[in-house]
Amino acid sequence: MQVPFLDLKVQYQSIKTDVDAAIQKVIDNTAFILGESVANFEQNFAKAHNAKYCIGVSSGTDGNHLATWSLGIKPGDEVIIPANTFIATAWGATLCGATPIMVDCHPDNYNLDPEKVEAAITPKTKAIVAVHLYGQPADMDKLREIANQHNLFLIEDAAQAHLAEYNGEKVGGLSTAASFSFYPGKNLGAYGEAGAVLTNDDQLANNLKMLREHGQSEKYCHQSFGHNYRMEGIQGAVLGVKLKYLDKWTEGRRRVAAKYKELLSDIDTIRLPIEMPYAKHVYHLFVIQVNGSNGKDTRDKLQKFLGENGVATGLHYPIPLHQQNCFSYLGYKEGDFPVTEQLATTGLSLPMFPELSDDKIQYVSEKLKEFFVN
Ligand SMILES: *Cc1c(COP(=O)(O)O)cnc(C)c1O
Repeated sequence: MQVPFLDLKVQYQSIKTDVDAAIQKVIDNTAFILGESVANFEQNFAKAHNAKYCIGVSSGTDGNHLATWSLGIKPGDEVIIPANTFIATAWGATLCGATPIMVDCHPDNYNLDPEKVEAAITPKTKAIVAVHLYGQPADMDKLREIANQHNLFLIEDAAQAHLAEYNGEKVGGLSTAASFSFYPGKNLGAYGEAGAVLTNDDQLANNLKMLREHGQSEKYCHQSFGHNYRMEGIQGAVLGVKLKYLDKWTEGRRRVAAKYKELLSDIDTIRLPIEMPYAKHVYHLFVIQVNGSNGKDTRDKLQKFLGENGVATGLHYPIPLHQQNCFSYLGYKEGDFPVTEQLATTGLSLPMFPELSDDKIQYVSEKLKEFFVN
């Protein structure tokens, strides 16, 4: 049996008629940049996350940059980010000329560990970026308390967490500015590059709209430096169709996660993802950890074994940010963030997408058991 890590084709087939018509409409109207399809999507996406404004942009990375840029973060400033995240989280700070300051993750939820954030704060710190990694919200109440205490901005990187909830409230409206990615493989994926920034702040929303489009308040009137970070009309149209199914697809991911947990719970050698009491996890990824002193070796062998048996897996992320060459100037070294490093060497992401069938989940689980029995 072949089990792909992700299958975007099966989802496209299920919505083909609607998506094709929506794309054709954009072309018929030659509304290629922003326009009605993007404006409609922005409105609905903001509503889905209980946020006042949504600014559609050209990628999640651009959203990360816009969020920090719109808050006036500049060279000399420091921005606290988790060491355990995708690299684009860090670009928000670096593209503003600021310094990303890394903090280890919590061993239960793999997100920014609030206990360790406080020690990383200096007089130069301007913001904390909470990443809701793998689809589980970071501990927002604790992070907000720290941010308020030190007068810092709290930003969310919700690229992996569309519709996730923290204490019953949707992510994206829980901070000053929140960025989302619609990279095709994300929980809500465009048919190309796209992203968004959510905010509840009127002035910040205006600022974000200006920066997205050359710093202009109206056509050819440029109030500040800016960039071209606009969302394409076709992406707005595709996202508009797909947003209607996102609740259903999120439940699909949660079904897959529950099934894995049921079938894998008796393997002592692995640690399954924990859904925190405050969280509604949306399982962008289902990351297990291999226990034991030779965890890395076992993880690598397990990945190979699964691959030989037709099961595709992933590593998220094999080299933590503080160990990336691009950040060698920050002077971090191995051992600085043990929880993150442990996850990088012993974590393994199993196939996860809403349409993953029970028999395939069963097959993956049997192969895992087979590996650990031998
Ligand atoms: C995917 C991702 C991004 C970047 O999004 P793109 O749309 O690919 O630019 C940023 N942060 C995190 C945590 C991500 O997973």
